[in-house]
Amino acid sequence: MRENVEAFDMKKVIENFERITKDAENVQKETLKRILEENASAEYLQKFELNGRTDPESFKSCVPLITYKDVEPYIDRIVDGELSSIITAKPIRAFSLSSGTSQGRQKRLPWNDELFVNTVHTFQTAFAYRNRYIPTDVNGKGLNFIYSSSKLPETKDGIILATATGHIYRHPEYKKTMKEIHSSSCSPDGVIFSPDFHQSLYCHLLCGLIFREQIQFISAIFAHSILYAFRNFEQIWEELCNDIKQGVLSSRITVPSIRTAMSEILKPDPELANLIHTKCLNLSNDWYGLIPELFPNIKYVQGIMTGVMEPYVKKLRHYAGDVPLLTTEYGASEGWVASNVNPQIPLELATYVVLPQIGFFEFIPMAQLDGTQGDIKPVGLTEVKIGEEYEVVLTNPAGLYRYILGDVVKIMGFYNSTPELKFIRRRNVLLTINLDKNTETDLQISVDTAAKYLLEEKMEVVDYTSYIDLSKEPGHYVIFLEISGEPTDELLAKCCNCLDKSLPELGYISSRKVKGIDPLELRVVKKGTFHKILEHFVSLGRSASQFKTPRCVGPTNTDMLQILSDNVVNNYFSSAYN
Ligand code: AMP
Repeated sequence: MRENVEAFDMKKVIENFERITKDAENVQKETLKRILEENASAEYLQKFELNGRTDPESFKSCVPLITYKDVEPYIDRIVDGELSSIITAKPIRAFSLSSGTSQGRQKRLPWNDELFVNTVHTFQTAFAYRNRYIPTDVNGKGLNFIYSSSKLPETKDGIILATATGHIYRHPEYKKTMKEIHSSSCSPDGVIFSPDFHQSLYCHLLCGLIFREQIQFISAIFAHSILYAFRNFEQIWEELCNDIKQGVLSSRITVPSIRTAMSEILKPDPELANLIHTKCLNLSNDWYGLIPELFPNIKYVQGIMTGVMEPYVKKLRHYAGDVPLLTTEYGASEGWVASNVNPQIPLELATYVVLPQIGFFEFIPMAQLDGTQGDIKPVGLTEVKIGEEYEVVLTNPAGLYRYILGDVVKIMGFYNSTPELKFIRRRNVLLTINLDKNTETDLQISVDTAAKYLLEEKMEVVDYTSYIDLSKEPGHYVIFLEISGEPTDELLAKCCNCLDKSLPELGYISSRKVKGIDPLELRVVKKGTFHKILEHFVSLGRSASQFKTPRCVGPTNTDMLQILSDNVVNNYFSSAYN
């Protein structure tokens, strides 16, 4: 391992981060040098004849920019058991499976101890600044909605194929290095490492209630997991109270290791059960402020809350009342990129500061990718310009060199000499039929605008996705909405027109007006449909911790399309441009 990871020391972490970020340019050069020296003998790098050169200019001129499909043949060979130095000098023995929710299929991305060290730096940095802003009691506990299987799956050649979160939680150094951050979890290991996500979730909530006075924060990797947990709580709170009252775990928990772990914690406590029961009865009208009612000493709720998580923030705020919501880190299964070191900034303006020691970063100006500004020439970490948008390129110590991550970020400022990024969106165009190019953000704006009509009637969009229907020329977009409450036909017709009118003027609306795209269709799905989609993903072995609702269902995602289609209760066509 490059550097021993250490137990958390807030002062040291902050001092180190301040020092490194003041010298970002040199730290980047050193990081690249280290990666290239350590992996000089790898077949992949040998091909590009760096011949010992490790400076950024030589690296950029010799090694090409790549995407996943370029590196996939090398990954296939490693997964198939080839043991030589293919992408790194020390053979890769483990892969992270991406959530596969953003791009349809799961990518297999190299994982090694170096990435664990990077994870520790990223988590500890965000935690240090968060804790300086809102200190938590070191003897307190966290209610962490984390899930990992009991044993990481292996191929016949012993290659581990797990999710990034699985690798992190099961790493032998995890407890020591992240004690304050995650391992002070109120849930025992038997609940975290379990083969059944639903049973884990039930017991996470139960443990949270039992230790309610000690809970200092609630966390998950992505905000969706927290929201999902409390939406479930609304359904199962009586059963949870009953377990606490009797001191007997519900028969729905069938995994022996979870039952054993819970038997150490769960004792009859009728007083606590009554207290929670009364609180829930009082709250059950709209569940506003549920979190601080349940956890009187809670300081904050934390997780990734930007990007595709933004649609969940409103509902999470509703549960959290006046408890702050703090976004944490930015990264991917490919590797971490940045930490939030300004937790005091409101979520809508949140930025992430790149950690210059965890990888070599380049940024492709969006204007170059759009074809409006010359050849593609990425700039270095310290060369980016405030106010500009870029696509992130990552070189990591696990064998990805000049890998285009697929995310668009905007530079909002600099923290010392390293940039502060705002996550903008995934690069991929989500919806396109004609000359229109509608991104994830465009769809979100359209749904948010239509949701205002629902809000006036005290209803909300629970979740959403979209589909390109080309069954009839010229094709049209379908937006699937799950809505709380019972909207009238009139209201839904209004929402449908609004969805149609709120997509971008350039491309979409101009095509609609000339009938280059047919009227947008709103399909309303039954309550619980998006739960079924999550359950389906989990049943395929995908990680609940990394789940992100796909914002567009591709034609090959037949299972998800089937679930949606089976649950449609109503559909409406826009009359906006008739
Ligand atoms: P995965 O590797 O499948 O878990 O997904 C990684 C992707 O999640 C990234 O490429 C981003 O698109 C998204 N993501 C991760 N962190 C953040 C963040 N802080 N804000 C917005 N999106 C994020």
